[in-house]
Amino acid sequence: MILDGIKIRDQILAEAKPRVAALPRPPGLAVVLVGEDPASEIYVRNKIKACHDLGIHSEKYTPPPTVTTAELLTLVRQLNQQETVDSILVQMPLPAQVDTAAVLAAIDPRKDADGFHPYNAGLLLAGQPAPRACTPAGVMEILRRCQIPLEGKRAVVVGRSEIVGKPMALMLLEANCTVTLCHSRTRDLAAECRRAEILVAAIGKPAFLTREHISKGAVVIDVGINRITDPAQAERIFGRQERPSTIVGDAHPLHMAELASAYTPVPGGVGPLTIAMLMLNTIQLAERRQA
Ligand code: NDP
Repeated sequence: MILDGIKIRDQILAEAKPRVAALPRPPGLAVVLVGEDPASEIYVRNKIKACHDLGIHSEKYTPPPTVTTAELLTLVRQLNQQETVDSILVQMPLPAQVDTAAVLAAIDPRKDADGFHPYNAGLLLAGQPAPRACTPAGVMEILRRCQIPLEGKRAVVVGRSEIVGKPMALMLLEANCTVTLCHSRTRDLAAECRRAEILVAAIGKPAFLTREHISKGAVVIDVGINRITDPAQAERIFGRQERPSTIVGDAHPLHMAELASAYTPVPGGVGPLTIAMLMLNTIQLAERRQA
């Protein structure tokens, strides 16, 4: 079974529309995009388009790549105070000279679009409602809507980043999975992965999980988004010539299709959900602020 993220995203957005319309004023999302990273520009453009399609008001702020931590903190504090802004997103990554943790911590937790604020991360740990990191929240939504049973299952998450792997492990634990969280220091990664009934790949390495990591019948969720520009590498993975610039996940697409009972394709799996969950976070924050 292919877990179709585009279809699920469309369902979620269709359900969200009446919630937006029911609010006294449109929800407001402020997006801060520093510099000119092409991938970040595409992500932000897609987020703003999603807002537009749903009737969410969005504002984009584009400080120069030379921006200082102090300048960004001033901007975030202004947005915290701004009445029409319900939700604030600072697009990652920030330039090296900026103290990313300080910027994220400066966002009012009641306006934290991405759920990255330590207070909201803490609420996830405590099992309490709060804006949640969009990508793992999107994975849970796929699993729920596709009726993949989770209770008592062995789940293995590969990758322990603050934005994907760690919150993913907590959300699966909350859903009563028995969770193993793997990373670059894990001994015998393949053996750990093979025990997984639910295997989540969030590593950032193209086609990294192969036949030796995936047991037959596992559900594989591939969070990875890797752009491959080397035609030889693409041919090694796909066994045929591909377009000059191809997106591949962290799991080997052919091995995953061969062995998994259900899996998210790349593209078209987890990616579309991330933006849908950002919209839901924004709507929920607006509902609380406008209540
Ligand atoms: P990070 O680079 O922050 O984290 C990668 C994790 O993978 C780290 O915990 C690292 O371990 C682990 N890792 C790296 N190499 C290995 C290895 N050889 N064996 C085992 N573990 C390893 O990445 P992100 O979490 O931000 O993103 C992961 C992937 O998901 C990327 O492809 C990214 O593009 C994609 N992504 C997709 C999104 C979507 O919307 N679908 C949204 C966000 C990300 P260690 O901690 O030990 O270094």
